[in-house]
Amino acid sequence: MTAPDMVRGWCPSLFRPMESGDGWLARVRPQAGCISADLALAVAEAAARFGNGIIEVTNRANIQIRGLQPATIAPFTDAIEAAGGAAGEGSRLLVSPLLGADPTMAADTVQIGNAVTHALHDMALAPKFGIVLDGGGALPLTGIGLDITIRYRESGWQMNGEACAPGDIAARIQALAGQTARVITRAGAAPKPGYHADSFALVAPAFGQMTAAAFGGLARLAQTHGDGHLRPTPWKSLCIAGVRSGDATGLLASAQSLGFITTADDGRLSIVTCAGQPACARGEVETHMAAAMLAQHRRASDSLIHLSGCAKGCAHPGKAPLTLIGRDGLFDLVHDGGTADMPAKCHLTLAQTLAQIAAVMHSLPS
Ligand code: SF4
Repeated sequence: MTAPDMVRGWCPSLFRPMESGDGWLARVRPQAGCISADLALAVAEAAARFGNGIIEVTNRANIQIRGLQPATIAPFTDAIEAAGGAAGEGSRLLVSPLLGADPTMAADTVQIGNAVTHALHDMALAPKFGIVLDGGGALPLTGIGLDITIRYRESGWQMNGEACAPGDIAARIQALAGQTARVITRAGAAPKPGYHADSFALVAPAFGQMTAAAFGGLARLAQTHGDGHLRPTPWKSLCIAGVRSGDATGLLASAQSLGFITTADDGRLSIVTCAGQPACARGEVETHMAAAMLAQHRRASDSLIHLSGCAKGCAHPGKAPLTLIGRDGLFDLVHDGGTADMPAKCHLTLAQTLAQIAAVMHSLPS
């Protein structure tokens, strides 16, 4: 039998970890868009005890725990299962982080989500098959595309861009489940960290990665300043709902002291990167070290840089104004393209890369 870590085209989960450069990684999927603070605290404790203490938010809004070892996988899984962390396992639905906590979202979004989940039950689906359910509201799923997109607009619900009555969605899901349309839900930039709509706060771990202690600290803040849940987002941030305006400043200051990005003007927001070396076995450069260096010279409004640890480009499928691709410890630079495109410059050191970026930065679109 082929070893699980050598199979391509599947996603790790709680019960099926994947081997990476720094050990095995597992994912905890939110249930209906959120995980309770109690579960988050259990995840933080287990990540520190059984993993290497590094936790990530993925672009499917899952919580990823790194650095498990063969001997610690089973006790880790047991600990998370005992805390209720298996409830979202197997879900193919990406929903708004505010599902159930946003009165401005389409009222039947939860009901449609339940119907879709029921329709997919027992269906044989491609390993990475996913559905976006976007009920609009205060935190719509801008810029997100999966195999099927169910979206609410003023005129009603749509599936992959075509009008669809709510009662017909589940039946059409079964017909479309073998297709991969990748319809973007709605255009727009990722929502920025900060306090929004007098009700919720967004904070971002730098480059999508945080310590277990920071994750646990944020869970406690959700208990004291929010509705007691953490809501991972597909923009690799974490949302806390139910935050009163009088509590927002204190919440964001505490989150910042834990290491989270809490303001929209942080230069780290202009860089998207992956695990890279040493966390990923395929990484050819230390992405997080390089991203931190690059960020010192950038503003949040600068053109996006995709810094990829290798040509696979996990962190940002598609084009970016600037793409840096790690190769043998150096960087290739692509203008207005992706990791599969022809580089304009090759084999740059980090210092040379910085100089190249400075030279072209002001001529790029934001
Ligand atoms: S892009 Fe390459 S280095 Fe980065 S996470 Fe993917 S496989 Fe690993």
